[in-house]
Order: sequence, then structure tokens, then C-alpha cells
Amino acid sequence: MRIEGQIVGVDRMFEGSVVIDEATGLIVSVSEGATGQSDLETKGCLIFPGFGDIHIHAREDPSGTQTYKEDFTSASAAAVNGGVVQVADMPNNPVAPVDEATYAMKERLAAKSDVHVTLYAGIGPKTEPLERHVPYKAFMGPSVGDLFFTSAKQLERQIAKYRGKNVSFHCEDPEVMEAHKGAATHELRRPPEAEISATAFALRLIERYELQGKLCHYSTRDGLPMIVAAKRKGVRVTAEVTPHHLYFDDSILTDENRLWLQMNPPLRSFGDRLAMIEALRRGDIDYIATDHAPHSHAEKLEGHSGVPHLDTLGAFATWLMKEHAFTAMDIARVMARNPGKFVREFLPESLGKGFGEVAPGFVGSLTVLDMETPYVATASKVKTKCGWTPFEGVTFPGSVKYTVLRGKVFGP
Ligand SMILES: [Zn+2]
Repeated sequence: MRIEGQIVGVDRMFEGSVVIDEATGLIVSVSEGATGQSDLETKGCLIFPGFGDIHIHAREDPSGTQTYKEDFTSASAAAVNGGVVQVADMPNNPVAPVDEATYAMKERLAAKSDVHVTLYAGIGPKTEPLERHVPYKAFMGPSVGDLFFTSAKQLERQIAKYRGKNVSFHCEDPEVMEAHKGAATHELRRPPEAEISATAFALRLIERYELQGKLCHYSTRDGLPMIVAAKRKGVRVTAEVTPHHLYFDDSILTDENRLWLQMNPPLRSFGDRLAMIEALRRGDIDYIATDHAPHSHAEKLEGHSGVPHLDTLGAFATWLMKEHAFTAMDIARVMARNPGKFVREFLPESLGKGFGEVAPGFVGSLTVLDMETPYVATASKVKTKCGWTPFEGVTFPGSVKYTVLRGKVFGP
């Protein structure tokens, strides 16, 4: 198939033409100028390398106990709806992927997804590295699931076994949270100091054990200088930020929305939020990753932490462009190129050079955003099985027009 229009890369944007081989699903050529033979109507649109979301919770595992709120089929549909072509799924399941057998079982379940799924393996108090090359996730303290540590020493002993591996960290220090557990609100019980303290510890582990480290859902302004200093020193670390920490801050919390906007780490201050936006633009933060965490209505009202995001991610990108002057190239960097780079080493050979660039040999998966048609987020439009969005009623300036997966048009 051939798609013509405004093609966005990390360094430039140009009027051009992409040809995808539908048999292999890979891009065979990219050229400047147009032939007028486009298979898709792209007037008023920007053609991005397909967006990647390297932090989601699709909820499906061999136990099947959480598929009432999401599974790989519904998560894939939500991803396509939001212009997302590849995801990486977190391991905090009831039957967690922590060894060859449990990882392979989850991999078979993920095979039904249309978008490509990379699976993280969990690091818990008793786990060992897998023989195959996979990304890992370490939870430092209690969040959702059982894969957590109760002391820094216990965590370090485990991480020492994973020397040189790709390890992502959820940075919230359990001791700081324990000291604040009597505070009045969720936000106060998980204060910025918990993240800052855990950041210092995670960076030390990443350096000492030569990990390829990633800090998940980063949210505090005062932790950023540590990340920047570590990067300058040559420590291999990258960081994610979520749409909710870029869009919401604790000033908007009310009795009505507080439970719906509860997540870990929690919403921070206005100043933290603006600092995250600037850090993302500057490149101190590397990825937008959603932490898509579907919970049912009843669970949210019981105080479960996490919000769903896949359906709205493409539209959210247009908000960053229109409201915060992100260039299309900035968006290509933080939503396509960097997430693509993260998963590249874990992909099967059939996916060529992988995701994240519109260039020959890369996967022919593209996100086409309509910059002229606004999108009103509402529960009736989402495909996530949990059936709601934290952006209910929000109008984003643009929308997803097409999600192309390996040369096939999937929607939204
Ligand atoms: Zn998460």
C-alpha cells in the first residue's frame, strides 16, 4: 500500500510517500513528493511512525481472573483506537511472568493482539533472570499485585542477579510511604519524597549493576536533576511520564473525581506538572508511556489505583502540540522513536528494523493524526473493557484518523 502526505520524522517533516509491502508488513520505500496515488485520504493530517506505549497493564494472564476488566483483545482494540501500534505489558499479574514457563504462557495469550506486545518479566523476592532476552520490571514497594520488596537490602540482593539487564523501576520508597500512611489523602500518603528517595536508590542500582535502567511514570520536579546528572555521567537510564501527570495536577481534585483520578504515583502539584512537560520537551524524560491501568467502576469506587489511557493517546498528542507547543518532531521522538528503540532488541526478526521510524526496513505501522478534527473523549467511544476514561468530556484539538498495522488499516 502507498500512503502520501505530511510525513513526520524526529529531525524533519516533509511531503512524501511511504510504500509498505503488505506481505512482509515492512516499509519498502519512502520518497519526497507525491504521486497522487495515496491509498488513504490524509488532507489536514500528519503521518507519524506508529506510536508505542511501553507501559501498559492488559490484565490477562494464565489465571484469567482479571479479564473482566481487560484482556489482550480489548487492550489491542483500545490501542488501535488511540493510534498505538506496539505496547509493552507489565508483569504484576496474579500468575506473574517470572520464569520461562510463566512467561511463555503469557506470551501465548498475548499472541491474539493485533498490536505488537512486548512482555516484561517480573523481578520479585524469589525470581531469577530468564534465559531468553526480555525486559524486566522491579516494584520497589507495595502497589498493585504481589511483586514487591519490603526492604532496600532485599531488593539490592535480587538486582545483583540481574547485572547488565534491562530493568524498569517503579520508584516509590516503601519506608517513606510507611511513615506517611496515616495522612489524610492518597496524594499525601505517597508524597514526592517517596519518589525522590526511590530515584536515588534506583539510580545507584542501575549504575552499580550496569543495568539498562528505566524509571517508570516519573512525576516529581525535584527528582529530575538526579536523572539529568546520571545521564550526564553516562549511566544508562531513561524515564517515562504518563498523560495524567502531564494533564492533571492535584489542584483539580474534588470529592467527586478524587477516586477516579487515584493512581500510583499520585497526581502532583501544578509546578511538578509543568516541570514534567518541560522535561519531556527538553529530552530529560524520554517517553510518554501511559501506565494504562484498567479497573472496573466498582473497583475505582473502592479505591483501586490506576487509570486507562490507550484509547485517548493519539488525541492527547494533539493537545501537547496545540497547548504546549510541542512540534510534530517532538511527538515523533517521545511517542514513536524512543518507545521503538526501547523494544527493538526484544523483537522477532520478522519485524525488521522494528518500530519508531518511517524508513525502509522498519515496520509499516503508522499513526495518522487529523489535526483539524477535534476529539471529545467519552466512555461510549472507548474500547478498553473497563469502559471509562479519565478524560471524560475533554475536547482534544485533533484526533486519530487511521492506525496502520503492518500495512493494513485498522481504524479507529
Ligand atoms: Zn504500571
